[in-house]
Amino acid sequence: MSAEKPLEGKIGIVTGVANHRSIAFGIAKAWHAAGARLIFSYQGERLKEGVAKLVHEHFGEDTPLCELDVASDESIEGFFRFVAGQTPRVDMLLHAIAFAPREPGTLEGHFSEIGREAFRSSLDISAYSLIALSRGVAPLMTGGGSITALTYHASRCVVPNYNLMAVSKSALESCTRYLAYDLAQRETPIRVNCISAGPVQTLAARGVSGFTTMLKLYQEKAPLHRSCTQDELGAMAAYLASDAAAAVTGQVLYVDGGYSIMGM
Ligand code: NAP
Repeated sequence: MSAEKPLEGKIGIVTGVANHRSIAFGIAKAWHAAGARLIFSYQGERLKEGVAKLVHEHFGEDTPLCELDVASDESIEGFFRFVAGQTPRVDMLLHAIAFAPREPGTLEGHFSEIGREAFRSSLDISAYSLIALSRGVAPLMTGGGSITALTYHASRCVVPNYNLMAVSKSALESCTRYLAYDLAQRETPIRVNCISAGPVQTLAARGVSGFTTMLKLYQEKAPLHRSCTQDELGAMAAYLASDAAAAVTGQVLYVDGGYSIMGM
């Protein structure tokens, strides 16, 4: 490991790349630049071609990638069988996955209208998946490891329209703390943290009603008068995966131009 390449020799799993705007793509670039070798997942045939092209162009033709639908235990098992066939050891995993069905109340309108099935699937895909992926990767983290998930400030206060995703993010952050406690007890401890990102223009973000207004609010109110960039999120994720963060676990680290510290 060198100062310029703090992740040299490390192997990382990257989930959640949909296209070049994805936060996961920014983090993959930062992990790769820091010296890591990467294995990617994509969700379903619909994304396969696009993600494969992007990954092979940026990270090399021989970069492994495999389908992963976190709503299916079978798919998760198949994914980790694939990973184990590629490498005997994994050092870090990125969870950059979120979903809420478009229904009354879920991402706009009245929160009180959210239906049971929408609630179940959003919590399952956006939060339970962190437990399932952590359990899947733990046996491969034979030299210890670092798991990082993406969250948003609406987990702890009301951001109109973020509705169901806010509840899913609260659950994700709580899962992060309990997993951090649990996985620290292993012979080779695994750290688990969240990055709380300010708004970034991505596919998932466009699903939240009023997203452009949110970005404007950050320009007006955040101490740094802006949200954050994909590269800045990458830099935080590279830090969390590195030995510099060896004593950091169970935390939610904000990369949001400081917006979250404001009371008004
Ligand atoms: P994105 O590019 O749309 O990435 C979201 C990813 O989740 C997509 O690759 C999506 O695949 C995947 N996904 C959804 N359901 C899945 C499933 N069942 N199995 C596997 N993958 C699934 O958007 P993003 O903004 O970069 O989102 C990444 C993370 O950052 C999310 O957790 C999001 O909540 C969080 N975040 C985003 C912002 C922001 O402003 N953008 C701010 C704070 C936190 P499909 O496209 O096929 O659904």
